[in-house]
Order: sequence, then C-alpha cells, then structure tokens
Amino acid sequence: MYSKNITNFLQHGLKFVLNKRLNSTLTGGPSFRLTAEQTEIVELAKKFSRDDIAPVASHHDKTGEFPWPLVKKAWKLGLMNGHIPNKYGGMGLDVLTNCLIDEQLGYGCAGIMAPIVVTSIGQLPVIIAGNEEQKKEYLGRLTEEPLLTGYCATEPSAGSDVNGIMTKAVKKGDEYILNGQKMWITNGGVANWYFVLARTDPNPKAPANKAFTGFIVDANTPGVTPGRKEINMGQRASDTRGITFEEVRISKANVLSREGDGFKIAMQTFDKTRPMVSAGAVGLSQRCLDESLNYSLQRKTFGVPIATHQAIAFMLADMAVAIELGRLSYQKAAWEIDNGIKNSYSAAISKLFTADNAMRIAIDAVQIFGGCGFNSEYPVEKLMRDAKILQIYEGTSQIQRIIISRILLEKSKA
Ligand SMILES: Cc1cc2nc3c(=O)[nH]c(=O)nc-3n(C[C@H](O)[C@H](O)[C@H](O)COP(=O)(O)OP(=O)(O)OC[C@H]3O[C@@H](n4cnc5c(N)ncnc54)[C@H](O)[C@@H]3O)c2cc1C
Repeated sequence: MYSKNITNFLQHGLKFVLNKRLNSTLTGGPSFRLTAEQTEIVELAKKFSRDDIAPVASHHDKTGEFPWPLVKKAWKLGLMNGHIPNKYGGMGLDVLTNCLIDEQLGYGCAGIMAPIVVTSIGQLPVIIAGNEEQKKEYLGRLTEEPLLTGYCATEPSAGSDVNGIMTKAVKKGDEYILNGQKMWITNGGVANWYFVLARTDPNPKAPANKAFTGFIVDANTPGVTPGRKEINMGQRASDTRGITFEEVRISKANVLSREGDGFKIAMQTFDKTRPMVSAGAVGLSQRCLDESLNYSLQRKTFGVPIATHQAIAFMLADMAVAIELGRLSYQKAAWEIDNGIKNSYSAAISKLFTADNAMRIAIDAVQIFGGCGFNSEYPVEKLMRDAKILQIYEGTSQIQRIIISRILLEKSKA
C-alpha cells in the first residue's frame, strides 16, 4: 500500500505534483534571501556593532563598567525590544529578524550584546503569557524609556535541574509573599522588573508543569535585594548578580497566565531565546574568523604568510564550515517557531552546535595568533573568554544533548 503522496507521484509524475504544490505554497520552502526590511535592519545593526560596540568592548571587558550608553543607543536605534508587538510600542519583529540583529551584536562584543538579548528573555514570558494590562504596563514601560528586564530562574542549588527551585510564593488574600534566592541573574542590578519563577505548590513531589508560577516583579519592590556584581571569566560588561527576595509582596495581578503555569511559560520562552543565543554565538565565531584571517595574512613565518601553511588554512576552513552551518541552524530554528512549528529539537541542536563551535573556533583563533593570542592587547583572548559561557547559560551543552536525545527517543516510539 503506497502513501497518498507516492500514489500521486506515480499517477501524475513528480514535476506535476511539485508544480502544483509550489503554486499553492509559494512562501513555504526554504529561502536564504532576506527581505528588504531585514537587509536594512542587519545593515543598521552591523554599523552599530562595528562603529559603536567594537571600539569600546575592551574597555568594558577590563573595567566591568555597565555599557549604559550603548544600551541607550541600541534602544534609540530600535535594535532593542524587537519582540515587543507594535501595539505596545515595540518593533514587532519575528524571531528570525531578532536573531539577525543578535548575530551582529555578538560580532561586536558578546558581553555588550548580553544585556540587550537578555532583556528580551525577560520580556518574552510576558509577551507569551501576559494579559492585556500586564503587557500595556510592563512592555509599554520598556518602549517609553530605555529600561531593561531580567529573567530569574536559576538558584544556588537549581540550574539545569529547574525542578529544584526553592524560591516560594505563598498566596495570602490578593497577594503572594515571595521568599528565596536567585543566582547568576543577567541584568540583575540594572533591570526595572524581573520575570521570577517560584514554587507555588508546597508539595515537593508536585510535577514541574504544576509546581511553579511565573511572576512579574518590580525591581524596586521592598524586599528585593540584588547582590554584588559577579566577576566573571568573560562577557564582563554584562551585569550578573544573585538576588534575594525576602517577604516580597506581589499583587496577584502580576501572576502570568495562571498559578502552576510557570514551568510551561519558561520552556516556551527557551524555544524563542535559544536561537537568539545561537545567533550571538555565530556572531562571535565570525569575529574570530575575520580576526584570524586578517592576522594570518599579515603574520609571516618561514618567509610566507601563515595563512598559506596548510595547517592554518585548514583551521580557517573548519571555522568557516561551522559558522555557515551554525547560521543555517539558528535560521531554521527561528523560522520554525515563526511559522508555528514546535522547534525545541532544532533550537537545542542549534544552541549546542553554535555554542560548542564558538568555543572551539575561539580556541583556534588564539592558536592562530600564537603568543599574541594569549595577550590582552589582541582581541582573541577576550573572544575565547566570552565564548565559554555560551556553552553554559540558556541550558548547558549537556542539557541540549539530553533534550535532543529525549525527542529522538520519543519520535522513535511514535
Ligand atoms: C554569566 C551567567 C549569566 C547567567 N544568566 C542567567 C539569567 O539571566 N537567568 C537565569 O535564570 N540563569 C542565568 N544563568 C544561570 C545558567 O543558566 C546556569 O548556570 C546553567 O543553567 C547551569 O546551571 P548550574 O550553574 O546550576 O550548573 P549545574 O546544573 O549544577 O550543572 C553543573 C554541570 O553538570 C552538568 N549536568 C547537570 N545535570 C546534568 C545531567 N542530567 N546530565 C549530564 N550533565 C548534567 C551541566 O551540564 C554542567 O556541566 C547565568 C549563568 C551565568 C554564569
């Protein structure tokens, strides 16, 4: 018994069937051509990244000073708040176009990209699950002024294992009382409000998809205390902190969707944010390749540019292959979610592939620079330090492998 498709092919011929299908779904197939709007946005982001971000990246890396002037300029240029619908003053861009921006920002400096990308990560739970009042108030604020948000899931004893979250929210009348400790929160000390994932079901055995609730928490609420800025290996422009929540009173109007929906919202957010982190990783990787190419054409050993030694040329070729495929992977994951296709599988593949390759590519860039690669006067040691966290935040590389293998096993059972 042949399937309907094969029977069609046999009866009408491949060309006829494909022509018919192409005519009916003209925009459905893969296309690598950007729209005129996307091309303009990419050019704008590229110029901002090269002219404004790259020249000060080393300063922010060395001092750890938060890049407010760049955040404000990104906001003014429309390179921030891309996901926020037009209705609330945002750019109303799809995930793919946001990723294209992130790739350019990652090229300039992943540490300066971080606050701009992570503010989207904090916003997305509200965009995905917020009601009209919440969207008007909390998204509207961000488009009226250059303010940032944070995404508070991780805790000292719960990172990969979200189920281990101990921060508790207890309902009392029309309020919830929040107590707990979050850790490694990007924009922790500079955000105007946070998305906070907290346990509302006191039963420790309650399944994750019922135990947690997502809250919008104003950063200036009494009882919310960000800790000191963490001194990290890389992406040092970014503001990472622990945050303590002590007897914090949150109105029930700040619950996203319903009590118990928090885990689902957090996971839906990852489907949109993982392609963005991947795009940033591709930007960083492209920077490594461009710096390496440039250096290897100028640096001579044994009377010739090192780029002409096969060992170096092949490293450049391997970088190029990983970058091209990484770019395709985030574009596919973004395209799927933009077209209503569940993309957890392709988003995990893209996050894993681009993060692991960014690390490898950055290590190779240091190798190509030789002794200069190890020195902070040259750009690649910073790129190597900045790359490492890409394999850790937004789900570690091990967690991405777990997601991919689980989906594979589920598919094989179906
Ligand atoms: C600079 C920075 C910024 C961050 N920003 C944010 C933010 O804005 N918001 C937020 O909520 N979090 C943030 N994080 C937290 C980040 O998402 C977590 O660090 C990450 O999810 C890993 O959790 P963990 O550190 O607790 O490591 P753990 O979960 O303790 O993992 C330790 C190691 O064990 C591995 N491992 C764990 N479980 C398994 C398993 N089942 N199988 C195989 N290997 C496993 C991990 O891959 C890792 O290698 C940030 C972290 C950093 C460092």
